[in-house]
Amino acid sequence: MEQTKIALLGLGLMGSGMAGRLLDAGYPLTIWNRTAGKAQAFADRGAKVVKSPREAAADAAVVISMLADVPVCRDVWLGRGEALVDVAPGTILVESSTVTVEWIDELDRAAKEHSCDLVDAPVTGSKPQAEAGQLLFLAGGSSEAVDKVTPIMKAMGRDVVHVGPVGSGARLKLINNFLSGVQTAALAEALSMIERSGLDLQKALGVLTEGAPGSPIVKLLSGRMTARQYEPQFLLRLMAKDLRYAIAEADLQALDLDMGRAALRVFEHAVTAGLGEDDMSAVVEQFRQHAQSAS
Ligand code: NAP
Repeated sequence: MEQTKIALLGLGLMGSGMAGRLLDAGYPLTIWNRTAGKAQAFADRGAKVVKSPREAAADAAVVISMLADVPVCRDVWLGRGEALVDVAPGTILVESSTVTVEWIDELDRAAKEHSCDLVDAPVTGSKPQAEAGQLLFLAGGSSEAVDKVTPIMKAMGRDVVHVGPVGSGARLKLINNFLSGVQTAALAEALSMIERSGLDLQKALGVLTEGAPGSPIVKLLSGRMTARQYEPQFLLRLMAKDLRYAIAEADLQALDLDMGRAALRVFEHAVTAGLGEDDMSAVVEQFRQHAQSAS
């Protein structure tokens, strides 16, 4: 039986899967989520449900956050959530949300003021991988802190890559999602070209997915786009958020992400069209809607 007390803040598509895996592994788990109803299934399995991030973090050796974006994380850790107010010295904070390096640096400073260590540990993989304990953690932090939380990350993931010091995990995750977002936007355009051209869809997609452009994400999302299955695995608006963060991070390095800006435009059009709460593969629908209104 694992004894390290863990607090998990956030029971969204990803946090819910992670909570399930931590309970499977036998960790004593305290959970908090803005929408309290999402906690019930885990309470039934023995998790302690609390009313505030502050209460969750007060009694934990490791506090994991899996929240939407930087404003939400800041509000939960340092703002109204007061997660750090009663935290015990020596607690390890794990920021697994996809966020900016700037936010990680801010949280690291706050962690130090409370004599805590921060590990930024965003993940690759999506809802099914979270449920199956098959995430890949990209960890940034001291070797000592990363080593301490590695068994916990391994309970939720297939592996942990210690990328480097604090902030390295967040940086690599933004590059990862920049590349994924660009491919997704390009796939949406390519698929629309096929559909408008009258080419045989299955033959054309077979050539593309089995050939050089057939990356794992192109293979996965071309299926969802053609089946028009947009049950959220990764919310479209969150991919727009990640592209914005990646562009801002590149800006700090005096690098203009032309491809990122183009992909972001495509995702922002989709958000404006009301597709933000769908899976990111719904990004293709704007081209279909345009095709219909143009014809
Ligand atoms: P999600 O399903 O939208 O969950 C978002 C979480 O943030 C929920 O717990 C939500 O609470 C909470 N939240 C949102 N706004 C809030 C607010 N104003 N105050 C307090 N809590 C708030 O998103 P997700 O897919 O789990 O993603 C979580 C993080 O992981 C994001 O940073 C995302 O970019 C990243 N990520 C996602 C995937 C993926 O495939 N889904 C993969 C890798 C990384 P409620 O339940 O009350 O809404």
